[in-house]
Amino acid sequence: MNKITIAIDGFSSTGKSTVAKQLAKHLGYVYVDTGAMYRAVTFYAMKNGLIDNTDFNAEALVYQLPNIELSFKFNKALGFAEVYLNGVNVEKEIRTLEVSSFVSQVSTISEVRLKLVEQQQKMVKDKGIVMDGRDIGTVVFPKAELKLFMTASAATRAERRYQELTERGDTVSYNAVLQNVKERDYMDSTRKDSPLVKADDAIEIDNSNMTLDEQFKKILQLVKMTIEDCE
Ligand code: C5P
Repeated sequence: MNKITIAIDGFSSTGKSTVAKQLAKHLGYVYVDTGAMYRAVTFYAMKNGLIDNTDFNAEALVYQLPNIELSFKFNKALGFAEVYLNGVNVEKEIRTLEVSSFVSQVSTISEVRLKLVEQQQKMVKDKGIVMDGRDIGTVVFPKAELKLFMTASAATRAERRYQELTERGDTVSYNAVLQNVKERDYMDSTRKDSPLVKADDAIEIDNSNMTLDEQFKKILQLVKMTIEDCE
């Protein structure tokens, strides 16, 4: 069977990574979470005093980019690859609301994007890849055979993210999560370099009223049709 590249873009907490993981497992494809890469760079900036609530030293971050090495290692038990920052697993640290509150600022920096996009493009060796993010169908893989653009209402997305954070033991308020989701939507879709926009040839999926199972079946159907078209 032909292997394809699947690009999944969309707003924060639209369930991109959930469906991407399901697809990768079902199809035997590689899954790459590009948001984890932007989060890891943000975590580096926080740890090194380059960003906080009052200041962001973007110039110093750009200068230090060669010191940032990102990699993924597949975790068999979890069924997906975890992100490593300079050899250290930071999968848990990058998922906090604090990282979420800074990541969209870091993602506006063109030098950061250039470095990460280059690494992402090198990850495709012989297709068979599912990648999710904000600019996958527009910038990273403009020729991807299947492009999906996921949406859901802000309230639905904030509720999902709130549950995720409280389930892992973080103390956060629903309102703070909702505010973060809205702020990131705004910053991600209005930045100059590679803003979040739906690619002309992307298929939009609004999953506000879909169960995970319904969504997976619908998307798998699209994947099968795309693979058939490519044969
Ligand atoms: O997907 P996730 O919510 O983890 O992404 C975190 C942030 O990383 C986004 O809000 C966005 O600012 C940035 N991002 C990006 N381009 C990507 C993936 C993520 O700018 N391809």
